[in-house]
Amino acid sequence: MTKRPIPYKIYLSEDEMPRQWYNVRADMPEKHPPMLNPVTKKPATKEELEQVFCKAVAEQELNDTDRYIPIPDDIIAFYKMYRPSPMVRAYCLEKALGTPAEIYYKFEGNNTSGSHKLNSAAAQAYYAKQEGLTSLTTETGAGQWGTALSMACAFYGLNLTVYMVKVSAEQKPHRREVMRTYGAKVIPSPSDTTETGRKILAAHPGTGGSLGCAISEAVEVALKTPNCRYGLGSVLDHVALHQSVIGMESKMALDKYGVKPDIIIGCAGGGSNLAGLIAPFMGEKLRGENDYRFIAVEPASCPSLTRGSYMYDFGDTGHITPLMKMYTLGSEFMPSPNHAGGLRYHGMSAILSKLYDDKYLEAVSVEQTSVFEAAEQFARTEGILPAPESSHAIRVAIDEALKCKDTGEKKVILFGLTGTGYFDLTAYKKYNDGEMSDYIPTDEEIAASLQGLQQLQP
Ligand SMILES: *Cc1c(COP(=O)(O)O)cnc(C)c1O
Repeated sequence: MTKRPIPYKIYLSEDEMPRQWYNVRADMPEKHPPMLNPVTKKPATKEELEQVFCKAVAEQELNDTDRYIPIPDDIIAFYKMYRPSPMVRAYCLEKALGTPAEIYYKFEGNNTSGSHKLNSAAAQAYYAKQEGLTSLTTETGAGQWGTALSMACAFYGLNLTVYMVKVSAEQKPHRREVMRTYGAKVIPSPSDTTETGRKILAAHPGTGGSLGCAISEAVEVALKTPNCRYGLGSVLDHVALHQSVIGMESKMALDKYGVKPDIIIGCAGGGSNLAGLIAPFMGEKLRGENDYRFIAVEPASCPSLTRGSYMYDFGDTGHITPLMKMYTLGSEFMPSPNHAGGLRYHGMSAILSKLYDDKYLEAVSVEQTSVFEAAEQFARTEGILPAPESSHAIRVAIDEALKCKDTGEKKVILFGLTGTGYFDLTAYKKYNDGEMSDYIPTDEEIAASLQGLQQLQP
């Protein structure tokens, strides 16, 4: 391996882009427990999943044996519009911190949706079109996933209805216009357009909504509409699979310069970017070839890994999805209106949950104001205005780099910069005005929303 000076940005060429996704499940010594049908408590079958998702996606969801899955050429063509994404050496941040650590970040915000979510949106829309479907439905929290799927549906020629969590729709009216420009219909959730929405509105009038509610609404519409399926932007295994392109590119870029990260950090909402970023590195750890520390960062207001329980739970508030064994705060958990909308989900990827339970992955939770302090420092030194979600990872990357300053260790830190914060200016305004608060749920609140999970266990 040559020791060349490391540039500020390590780019890969289009030809170097991965042509396969890496399926970390194939290398997990113990697989995570299967999704269950909530009525029969039997493992969900491909046929059941195909009522909600398109066929290729249902198949990928259940695949825990193939290590590599080819990326179809048409998806590669879409990826080429915005990938490979840059790997950046944060020289300026390192200098500002005065740390001996090397800090790198993989930047996924270089596309109009402003986040990594396009990596899975492209795949899901492609497969839907391929299978002759005419429309998709989905939910969106912060708006990144809705925007990503709108872009992908416009590209492949599909109609899309997006249920957008009401508080986000109110905080981010401009997001809605981006989605509409790409042809999507956007409905604030909970809405009176679905049975679940009407029920939730009756039980919690004035609620700002949650991802869990919006998912129920979107799934209901997909089930009731011919030639329509539902697309999910996080949590599920096929989404993690599509996001492995982030980790594969990262590893390739660092390998070019002989750089091996010691610590890999990502924010975790439903877990897809983190699962994707760490995938090939985790594969090496699982196979005993290399060791890394992996850290999931979640908001203190919605701490599923650090304070939730590892149990079977529904993926949505309306209880129409299969049961998944995951770290969860309970599907009834209504997170406070924290500004990192993309991290307000009660559960966590089954893959990450299992890896966490088996101690391959660590988790920490951080408070919102300290996250925005990190975001501000990052913006002022590295130039990029980060998404609040991504800034959770920045917070912990900075903390780890400062620890190195204390100990003199030259650790190599890699984190995922999942997106940009242009649509989060209401949050930045709160921070700049000194009006940001940290809401941390009490043990009693968490215990209350976990109540009732016992009866769901097989
Ligand atoms: C959605 C989103 C996240 C969180 O989702 P994961 O599935 O946990 O990756 C993080 N950052 C950004 C910018 C997002 O849009």
